Amino acid sequence: MQKNWSRHLRYTLAGLSGITLAGLYLGYPVYGLTVGLAFYTLWTLGQTRRLAQWLANPNADNEAPQSLGIWGDLFDRLHKLNQNYLETRDRLRARIDRIQESTNAMRDGVIMTDARGAMEWWNGAAEYLLGFRRNTDQGQYIYNLIRTPAFTSYFDAKDYREPLELHSPAKPHIHLQIQISLFGDDDRLIVAKDVTRLHQLEQMRRDFVSNVSHEMRTPLTVISGYLETLSDSADELPPKWQRAVNTMATQSFRMEALITDLILLSKIETGEQTMNDAPTDVGALARQICQDARTLSGEKQHDIIFQASSTQRLKGDENQLRSAFSNLIFNAVKYTPAQGRITVSWYTNSSGGHLSVKDTGSGIDQVHIPRLTERFYRADPSRHKDTGGTGLGLAIAKHVLINHDGSLEINSRLGEGSEFVCHFPQERLIEGAKE
Ligand code: ADP
Repeated sequence: MQKNWSRHLRYTLAGLSGITLAGLYLGYPVYGLTVGLAFYTLWTLGQTRRLAQWLANPNADNEAPQSLGIWGDLFDRLHKLNQNYLETRDRLRARIDRIQESTNAMRDGVIMTDARGAMEWWNGAAEYLLGFRRNTDQGQYIYNLIRTPAFTSYFDAKDYREPLELHSPAKPHIHLQIQISLFGDDDRLIVAKDVTRLHQLEQMRRDFVSNVSHEMRTPLTVISGYLETLSDSADELPPKWQRAVNTMATQSFRMEALITDLILLSKIETGEQTMNDAPTDVGALARQICQDARTLSGEKQHDIIFQASSTQRLKGDENQLRSAFSNLIFNAVKYTPAQGRITVSWYTNSSGGHLSVKDTGSGIDQVHIPRLTERFYRADPSRHKDTGGTGLGLAIAKHVLINHDGSLEINSRLGEGSEFVCHFPQERLIEGAKE
């Protein structure tokens, strides 16, 4: 470019000098120079106009103008740059089209929003599942289109480790699982999966368990009643029947307990048991359960200590909380050898309210801890044969805590005792004594 420029300068100066010399020869050197300069200025203006016209529409079909000297060079270079730019643009457009085509082929809804939730792009499945419309919803805030409060708080909380489940705003029979990922400058990539079938199966499973439990309850009550009457007058029975009747009575009571727990669990899980968020005095509740635990401990004479360092109360359902806490405290009694110590504490801090149940019992191997809250999961079935448990206690406790926006923490080591802590969020705590 530098070389071309100096050549252009040389030619221009030579041209001007030639015209000036011709003017000098004719006796008008100043006119000669003026005519030369005017000619050069007009030519330059002409080239500038051609450049401006070409730049106004520099598409691939519009050939760059041809010219001499530095202008020709400039047009060539600009043409090449434009050509490169158009090629890159076409390549990127093809790539974007391909990505959009593939996301359009997805059965999951995909939506891109900015940090404030303004919708930038979404695929065809999102239109079907969530009822978005391409021509009217561009730039709309997503929480104006998915108006469920749970979605707004999920979107704002920025804690997307767990997905959110909700009904489609456009088609209420569709059950969706929403998962959000952050990218770029706090922008959001939202994936909506249709989990209706899974949801229906889960519902069928719950209904089945609940119906079977209800159906079994009546005949079992009758059998238990007769067995109880027979046990009361066991002395009148032949000796070989006495053992049989006692074993039958024990097993039917176990089955009754199992069915009661199954019904309770299905009610807590399905939300059939309506939650009552009245202020609950957790301290008083846990103290009462500890009292029952002392009776349960009986001859095993556990040292059951209760301590409450907070008078704050918890917004929650007292019946559900009683089920959760008694399962944990009674488990501690069941799995702690005689004279062991069980410490129950209620305390609050900046992260919320916590009820801890600590024992000096048999403890649990680490491998079992992640699965302990599954229904009927037992750390060591042989060890728990005689505890009379149903295998549902921790599942009930977990679901009660989920209903209270809380969580269950389990710390335990084999042979070193266990600690079960119920965590409740700060928002559920309220101050002081009853009004
Ligand atoms: P279960 O009716 O068998 O007690 P749970 O759901 O209450 O059923 O408990 C599940 C399993 O967790 C128990 O079978 C037991 O293996 C283990 N577990 C629960 N609490 C304790 C505890 N305090 N100490 C030792 N193991 C425990």
